Amino acid sequence: MIVHDVELFHIQLELTEPFVTGFGRVEARDLILIRAQSDAGVSWGEAPTLREPVYTGETALSSLHVLGDFMLPAVLGQSISSAEELLDRIAFVRGNNSARYAIESTIVHHLAAAGGQSTSQYLGGVRSSVDCGLSVGIRPDLDDLVAFVADGVQTGFRRIKLKIRPGWDVEPVRAVRAAFPDVMLSVDANGAYSRQHLDILTGLDGFDLIMIEQPFGYEDLTTHAALQRRIGTRVCLDESLDSVSSLESAIELGACQAVNIKLSRVGGFVAAKAFHDICQAADIPVWCGGVFESAIGQSDSLALASLPGFVFPADIGPSARYFVRDLIDPWIDMVDGQMPVPTGPGIGFGVDEDYIRKTARGVWRVPGHTRENWTLT
Ligand code: MG
Repeated sequence: MIVHDVELFHIQLELTEPFVTGFGRVEARDLILIRAQSDAGVSWGEAPTLREPVYTGETALSSLHVLGDFMLPAVLGQSISSAEELLDRIAFVRGNNSARYAIESTIVHHLAAAGGQSTSQYLGGVRSSVDCGLSVGIRPDLDDLVAFVADGVQTGFRRIKLKIRPGWDVEPVRAVRAAFPDVMLSVDANGAYSRQHLDILTGLDGFDLIMIEQPFGYEDLTTHAALQRRIGTRVCLDESLDSVSSLESAIELGACQAVNIKLSRVGGFVAAKAFHDICQAADIPVWCGGVFESAIGQSDSLALASLPGFVFPADIGPSARYFVRDLIDPWIDMVDGQMPVPTGPGIGFGVDEDYIRKTARGVWRVPGHTRENWTLT
């Protein structure tokens, strides 16, 4: 397969409401989309970056730069027969896993479709639907929080995850647990705590949480290990794990008993599958996280979460809950707390190309590196 023409689109998706976490407030989603034309047809991929470099350090603009100036020129016009071959060609680029995932998934969609397979089939997925979890941002007060969770439970979400940070932790968990004694519940701090908070986090051990996710900084495996030694609740790592070696170090240190796998953080399907296999061998349950991907990215998360080791509900949900308008047509809905794994060839959803072209804030064509209508603000 040879990719001969690529367009990059900068898209800003309006959220139905702002989302507040331990690293800040997200008002809208800035994404980079890849549209690649090959001898096998057209396929799409997404770099689900944030606008600011607060999660992995990448941004929409940095992904554009790395994709357009480095990764794509190494791929265009070359014969590519596997995801591994693609990764070899861009292995000279350090980091930038969101951009790496975007180009890898575009190629995987081509390869899967060329073989008449969905992305899930291409990966070896075993599920036809994925349990959905709701991630609940930091809310204005406890009453609002409990009402918001009640709506999520009523809607059918199978797991509730509360974002926490110092000052918003034990009491919110206590309030939600009191109101919903049986709900599957977890918390996620996005690295907002430090070693001095060990006692507070230990205090969360009695609320029957399925996990405490990324309480400490992304480089701090040893404090995660210290907490895991103190509590029976699983410590889950997210931001700390961006490579297979970081995962192996975490397991060696005893820093986690659960792992959140995000395609954009680990750098694509090959890496995510390696994470899955290593965790299965170590008897560590995994689940699929999200960063408010559009439905294009969510199709990949659904395919990934169809692998057998994904045992907890995913941070995946219906477009209408998160976005004023999504990028596929028709939109996919959640049914009984589950989203269907796409079964069509490649991406499996109908991409709304007219809308993407109409609303793109910038379009960059490669090769040629010609910036057209470049109006990033
Ligand atoms: Mg997380």
